[in-house]
Amino acid sequence: MIGLVDRVRGGLYGLAAGDALGATVEFMGRDEIRRKYGVLRDIVGGGWLNLRPGEWTDDTEMALAVAEGILADPEEPVPHIGEAFLRWRATDPPDIGGTVRAAFQAYDRLGNWHRAAEAVHARTGMTAGNGALMRTLPLAFAYPGPVELYVRCMEVARMTHWDPEAGLTCFLYCRAAQHVVLGAGLVDALDRAVEEMLEVAPAGKMSRAAAALAGKLEGVMAWPEDRLRPTGYTVDTLACALWCAANAESFEEAVVRAVNLGGDADTVGAVTGGLAGVMHGYGAIPARWVDKFNRAQRERLDAAAEGLARLAEKIFV
Ligand SMILES: [Mg+2]
Repeated sequence: MIGLVDRVRGGLYGLAAGDALGATVEFMGRDEIRRKYGVLRDIVGGGWLNLRPGEWTDDTEMALAVAEGILADPEEPVPHIGEAFLRWRATDPPDIGGTVRAAFQAYDRLGNWHRAAEAVHARTGMTAGNGALMRTLPLAFAYPGPVELYVRCMEVARMTHWDPEAGLTCFLYCRAAQHVVLGAGLVDALDRAVEEMLEVAPAGKMSRAAAALAGKLEGVMAWPEDRLRPTGYTVDTLACALWCAANAESFEEAVVRAVNLGGDADTVGAVTGGLAGVMHGYGAIPARWVDKFNRAQRERLDAAAEGLARLAEKIFV
């Protein structure tokens, strides 16, 4: 029996570990990874960002920003999450994603996150990247599903990613994680989350997008592995994460499979690690991975996990 605190902590540490492991091979192809590493199983740093072993990237930073914003005010998290995003930007990180960068610039002009993201979407038509999905997990511990969770996933995704698929994939991911916490297996958890998405998505554009998304993910956990596409498209990323989490016996195996797909490996690793961490709990994360995080990193993860676990105790009764 995995306790709630262990699952929340497992989700956050799992996300961070998947990010730190995958960053080494971000933008590499599967064959290239195989030639260079065989199977990448250890957090060794490097990669295009030239990280020290254990250093994480924008995925974990933005997920912690969401957690910190929720904990600042669970009733109205968006302004606080926005402030945390801007604090992170002020550190001049090298790896701000394209959609997020555009949304930050639009926010500077407009002073409103949702108007900023909508403006970026109107201009580019391309805001279904995985930059919202990679940071969404804290919402699963703070807001009861399906109805409030749906609203919160949309409002937080739409701070930067206006496309309906961005918010809808966040909902499926968070709601599936909640069903896992409540005792479901992952296949059932996703089935229920999809049904609930179809019920709660408002009629019109959102319900059409939800129906299309349900079709795109049909039977995902039984797909042949070569159908997985570790791209930056949020639906592809969610499919990879669900497949890897479902087709693995352990936390470690799920995350190793995910990052060794290559491509957007840090984000696919983070999204997989978050879900697998909820499934298997903190105790299942290899100590040799956790040991790579320094004290400051662990303090940030622990503070977020403790705060979110307190909120989670209220919604998982
Ligand atoms: Mg990253």
